[in-house]
Amino acid sequence: MSALDKPRRSLKRQSGQRLRVDPLVCDGIGQCAMAASSIIHLDRWGYPVIPAGELSPADKGRATRAVNACPRQALWLEATD
Ligand code: SF4
Repeated sequence: MSALDKPRRSLKRQSGQRLRVDPLVCDGIGQCAMAASSIIHLDRWGYPVIPAGELSPADKGRATRAVNACPRQALWLEATD
């Protein structure tokens, strides 16, 4: 492996997506955390704490489950570019 391979390998570990939440739309019931408990935690008031920054490909799949589970459409994925 050359030194030039390292950046390419690290790029493959990223999905190019991040998870966003609209706190004004979120109802704080927590279905997203039940759907993706490994990446979304609830704060003391029941509102989701989502991962900061770009998601790994595996976490993107988990985040997609959370987006699909949200009854208020308060979560979405967006490109990091
Ligand atoms: S499922 Fe949606 S509305 Fe419910 S806590 Fe999560 S982001 Fe908020």
